[in-house]
Amino acid sequence: MRIGIGYDAHALVRGRKLFLGGVEIPSDRGLLGHSDGDCLIHAICDAILGAISEQDIGHHFPDSDQAIKGISSVEILRFVSDLTNKKGYSIVNIDAVVVAETPKISPYREKIKEKLSEILGIEKDSISIKGKTTEGLGFTGRKEGIAVYAVALVEKTPGVWQEVTGGI
Ligand code: MG
Repeated sequence: MRIGIGYDAHALVRGRKLFLGGVEIPSDRGLLGHSDGDCLIHAICDAILGAISEQDIGHHFPDSDQAIKGISSVEILRFVSDLTNKKGYSIVNIDAVVVAETPKISPYREKIKEKLSEILGIEKDSISIKGKTTEGLGFTGRKEGIAVYAVALVEKTPGVWQEVTGGI
């Protein structure tokens, strides 16, 4: 078993759609970013990449690359999921905390879990998404942005391990 941690934060600005966990959430502001700004997916990607020792999202998707400007974060998560499988790992579970004054996460939790479980090919029950406010403190409390903390646990996939390493 291996564990990874991920963190991300993006600014909330007018004139952008709000995406969290691959789900569009009704809001008068969205997250600014080179991609769609989905910091929940970005933090989860970094947690998984950390667990499989594959650096971070900026290494695989540099924001200097104009070809990926406006890319859906769902595509980034699909890439990370494929890379995980290629390296012979399976995701055991994911836990994430979305730090935001608004929106409330609970009405969208099931939809987000469904979306992520479909992309990652794991059970909904293996994904946990929690919302947390900071009681008005800091940039999240002032509704200037959203921050996300995530952890991911992975394990070697039986069989694939032998294929990748040549066995014992
Ligand atoms: Mg990001």
